[in-house]
Amino acid sequence: MKNTYDVYSEFHKKIDVSKIVPGYKPIIPRRQKKGSERLTNMHVRSDNMVVPNLLTGEKQKRENPLPPEFKSVLEISTRSPYCPIPFVLDVNMGKCSYLCKYCFQAQSIESLMTSFFDSENPMELRWASVEHTKKELNDVLSARGVEPDEREPMRGKCGSINETKSLKKAVAQQVPLRFGTRSENFLPGEKEHKVALMSLKVIRDFNYPLIINTKSDLIIKEPYFDIITSMGDKVAIQVTISHIDDKFSKALEPGAPSATKRWEVLKQFNDVGIRGMVRMEPCAHFLNASDEHLEKYMKVAQESGCKHFMGDTYHHTVKAQEVQSLFYDMGIDFGRMWESTSEYQILGSYAMEKAMYYAKKNGIKCGTFNYHSVPWNDDPVCCMVGDSFGSWSKYSMINALRNELVETGKPLGFKAFDDKYYGLELHPAIRQRFKDVWNLEVNNCFNPDFMEGCIPVDRDEDNNLVWQFKPELLGEGYRNIIKMYGETK
Ligand code: SF4
Repeated sequence: MKNTYDVYSEFHKKIDVSKIVPGYKPIIPRRQKKGSERLTNMHVRSDNMVVPNLLTGEKQKRENPLPPEFKSVLEISTRSPYCPIPFVLDVNMGKCSYLCKYCFQAQSIESLMTSFFDSENPMELRWASVEHTKKELNDVLSARGVEPDEREPMRGKCGSINETKSLKKAVAQQVPLRFGTRSENFLPGEKEHKVALMSLKVIRDFNYPLIINTKSDLIIKEPYFDIITSMGDKVAIQVTISHIDDKFSKALEPGAPSATKRWEVLKQFNDVGIRGMVRMEPCAHFLNASDEHLEKYMKVAQESGCKHFMGDTYHHTVKAQEVQSLFYDMGIDFGRMWESTSEYQILGSYAMEKAMYYAKKNGIKCGTFNYHSVPWNDDPVCCMVGDSFGSWSKYSMINALRNELVETGKPLGFKAFDDKYYGLELHPAIRQRFKDVWNLEVNNCFNPDFMEGCIPVDRDEDNNLVWQFKPELLGEGYRNIIKMYGETK
């Protein structure tokens, strides 16, 4: 079977997205009324954010959440049908001074749920304290290495995943901990509060597998660098870099360290043998997915010692007015970018596949969760840590299904899949959710038919769909585009 790059690279020469997706022009240009408040984003990201009360005309200052009225700083996210590494530690939620224009943290807070095998709890704004986090980490991580047989089977039982018992279940299975998912953990306040520093020490002492997601260069300063490097192959650093141009990055992510500093972070870790991987999120047409930019970007990635790249397109919940205005203010046509790049748009996947193509050309392995036109990654886990931390792909049903279908080429029904991957592990509520996704009964962009080449071919005895991967279908979407528009390049 041809690999993805052979199948798709031919389209790079034939499709010009700018000739397919029209530009947008606001009918009435936005002009801010003198004296009116302008929200910089809808969530509490800056100290001076005020919310005007329309009835009284008064301005109310939004205060940051005080530490901590929450059950736990450790969470398992319920993207379980989707995210293979759902065990997360965010020490701060709600206030991020990096102010990235594309940030969808606010939507995450509203839409993500904190259960893995059970109930749905909305995320809350919070700020972690050292004492609370330390106590919890020590308690939860002590479950590491508990034999699966000693764990109580969960089938038929309930309990919030934020509860220690459920967190320990993830730890017993050594699901890697992801540090900084919905917010940055190394913000300037860290220099004073040191919650991240303490957490790293505890995690290191437990020798627990860790993925650090960051845009900060604090981690190459001491004592951070020393602690992280002492974790050896138990740690992977993922640094998000959207654009190689420092001026453009400054406009896009005004509070974050420059792109140059972030490449330096990757280089320093890679130089001492710690896996430093670059993330491009979002990878979007009219933003950073031109051939010219991708070519330069991957060259710098290679020079920074990166052997792994991962990326994603634009989150489907982001089409919020406040986010749009931020892009229009920058002179970027949000409408056009969104039309072409939001997740599960075929052209969005095209941007992602193109980025991976340029990564490959520079000898860099790649992964994405945007499987549309990327039916397989270079690692069983889309975050590119499966080779060192073990394959956790089963915790993303879509990921596991895709790997299974591509590998076997055979039809697969839900029961066979469930028995092979989950058995007693899955809570009934999550099993039902998996089943709904499997049967295309969920109004969501990430269903199995999102993966190009995967189609339902039958129903099994329980009336669930049977899926199969058909390689001859790869490229179908792009062939249709060429049929409609001709070759635009
Ligand atoms: S660093 Fe992350 S959380 Fe902070 S503003 Fe940027 S995208 Fe949002």
